[in-house]
Amino acid sequence: MRVLVTGGAGYIGSHLVDRLVGMGHFVTVIDDLSTGFAVNLSQSRRAIDFHHESILNSNVVERCVERSDIVFHLAAGVGVQNIIQDPLRALLVNTRGAENVIESCSRFQKRLLLASTSEIYGKTNKLPMSEDDDRVLGSTTVIRWGYSTAKALDEHLALAYSTVGLKVSIVRYFNSYGPRIDPRGYGSVVARFLGQALRGEPLTVLGDGSQSRCFTYVDDTVEGTLCAALSSAAEGMVFNIGNDAETTILDLAQIIIGLTGSQSAIRFIPYEERFGRGFEDTQRRVPDVRRAAEVIGFRAG
Ligand code: UDP
Repeated sequence: MRVLVTGGAGYIGSHLVDRLVGMGHFVTVIDDLSTGFAVNLSQSRRAIDFHHESILNSNVVERCVERSDIVFHLAAGVGVQNIIQDPLRALLVNTRGAENVIESCSRFQKRLLLASTSEIYGKTNKLPMSEDDDRVLGSTTVIRWGYSTAKALDEHLALAYSTVGLKVSIVRYFNSYGPRIDPRGYGSVVARFLGQALRGEPLTVLGDGSQSRCFTYVDDTVEGTLCAALSSAAEGMVFNIGNDAETTILDLAQIIIGLTGSQSAIRFIPYEERFGRGFEDTQRRVPDVRRAAEVIGFRAG
C-alpha cells in the first residue's frame, strides 16, 4: 500500500514508519520537524518520501493524501509543556492542520487513522476511562485544556465526516514511552526523569507524586495503531491504546533512579513553580482496555 504518515518524524510516528516500511509498504511522511527529528527516520530514510512541511500547508497535504491508500494522522502539537509554552501554534496545528488532513481524506475517499489522546478525558475521576465516557475539563483560562479541546474537535470532525462516507478510526494514546522520546522531556515525564537521572540532577516530582499514569511501551502504541487502522470492524470507532497498569509518579521516579543506578535525589516541586498559577493536573489516568481487545484484538503487553 501507499501510506501517508503525518508527523512521521516524531517519536511515535517514526516507529510507525519503521514498522510500515518493514511490512513492505511505500511510505510518505509529512513533518515540519517542530518536535520531531530527521534522525528518527534514519533507519527508513532511503525507503520513504519525506516532505519537510507543515500540515497547515493544505496544498501539500492534498497532494500527498491523493496519492495514498491510507493516511495515519499523527502530526500535532503535543505535550503539556509544549502546549503551555506556545498555545497558539499548538491550537492552530491541532485544529486547522487536522482539518486539512481529515477533509482531504474525505474528498479523496482515503482510509484515515486519527491519532488522539487520553488528554481527551481531562480531569475526570471516573476510572477506568471508557471511550464513551463524559469528558471533564476546566476553564478556558487553564491553557492545558486547549489541547484536549482541539483534539476533541478533531475527533468530532472525523466522526462527522464518517457519517458522509469517510472511513476513519480514532486511537487515544495513553502515556507512551520508549526509544526516541523527546530527550528534552517536553512530551513525557519518563524522558524528563531519565535525563535528570543520567545527568545526576534531582528528579523533579510535581506536587506530592501521588498522581498516576499507565505507561505504555511504544511498540504496543504502534501495534494498537496498526490494529485499529487495518481492521474494517474498527471503522467509525474510537479506541483507547494503552495498558492499564497504573504507576504513581513518585514510584516512577524511584524506578528510574534504580534502573539507571543514579545518585540523583527526588525533589518535590509545587505545580505553580513549573507551570504558573492555576495549573490543573489529571490525578489518575487509566484506560478501559476492553473495546480494543474485543473489536481489534489489541492488548498491550
Ligand atoms: N510530572 C512530574 N515531573 C515532571 C514532569 C511531569 O512530576 O518533571 C508529572 C505531571 O505532573 C503528570 C505526570 O508526570 O502528573 C505525567 O506528565 P507528562 O507530561 O508525561 O504527561 P501527561 O500525562 O500530563 O499528559
